[in-house]
Amino acid sequence: MPSPQQVKVLIAGSGPAGLTAAVYSARAQLSPVVVEGEPSSTSDQPGGQLMLTTDVENFPGFPDGIMGPELMMAMRAQAERFGATLLTAKVTRFDLSGSSPFGVWTGDPEANEPTYEAEALIVATGAQSLMLGVPGEDRLLAHGVSTCATCDGFFFRGQEIAVAGGGDSAMEEALFLTRFATKVTVVHRRDQLRASRIMAERAAAHPTIEFRWNTQITEVLGDTKVSGLGVTDTVTGEMGRLAVTGLFVAIGHRPNTDLVAGQLELADNGYVVTHDGSKTNVDGVFACGDVQDHYYRQAITAAGSGCMAAIDAERWLEARGS
Ligand code: NAP
Repeated sequence: MPSPQQVKVLIAGSGPAGLTAAVYSARAQLSPVVVEGEPSSTSDQPGGQLMLTTDVENFPGFPDGIMGPELMMAMRAQAERFGATLLTAKVTRFDLSGSSPFGVWTGDPEANEPTYEAEALIVATGAQSLMLGVPGEDRLLAHGVSTCATCDGFFFRGQEIAVAGGGDSAMEEALFLTRFATKVTVVHRRDQLRASRIMAERAAAHPTIEFRWNTQITEVLGDTKVSGLGVTDTVTGEMGRLAVTGLFVAIGHRPNTDLVAGQLELADNGYVVTHDGSKTNVDGVFACGDVQDHYYRQAITAAGSGCMAAIDAERWLEARGS
């Protein structure tokens, strides 16, 4: 049985929060190990949710914008340049029950010995897409149902498709999909958008985007690929069908906290509770980015909180003489 590798700082997650924490802790000579995740069609892949985004126009320093994946590749290279080790794997188990060092498993979660023992742990596991949970959605995922316009938009060239949701994500997906689709119908359950004004106005002004208000999607139809949506008018109760060949689900996110639930304090909405910067209820465990932020959820705020976590971890290690 190989004995666990001892590390000063282990960072779980490689979105803007995790990679910024990696840059800062690497520059502080802490030789961090980043368990970056594995390729996935949802949103816990290496690089996090920005890997599923196109133009990022609001990350300071890029006056002409930058593509999400390009930004993440640059952050990754920067972390590596200062000596961070990036491991393409998923954490399968944390043991936060005792005091530092903390056990971190990749691979078999039942293995007796953890893969790593980390003196300080930074949880930056992010958040992922919520799904509608209606019949047909799971079965037709990747066969017309998608959570990522950037990844899959190309396949819908010349088709009529729908986007579920009324927030900024839905507007962003809809706008991006106009590059390919001949018609994009935004299906929203209310008669008012939650999206920011600028995004809502952009979508409303686009000739290829239509809105279907007060409409709940009740079923995704189709045998081997999407042929339409079953819909219900939330005001009249009238049931109908929307003829589309694709559905992009953009109704929000949930934090990736499954592995820390029961070990770290979580808020009612499931996000990790932090205090005094990035501290969690377990001494030596820090959290940053979307896993602990349900409010701002921006790349720049995630990056900022990653910096905080790295500094908090560094000072915590220093105070205990490590
Ligand atoms: P969000 O703001 O929470 O919006 C989720 C939308 O999905 C809401 O319109 C909601 O409807 C709808 N929804 C939720 N559950 C549903 C269900 N079961 N069935 C049907 N509809 C459902 O999430 P988001 O759009 O992902 O945005 C999250 C945060 O990221 C926001 O702060 C946003 O500003 C930010 N963001 C910014 C950008 C950008 O600036 N480029 C891009 C993406 C995200 P209700 O309105 O009825 O609740």
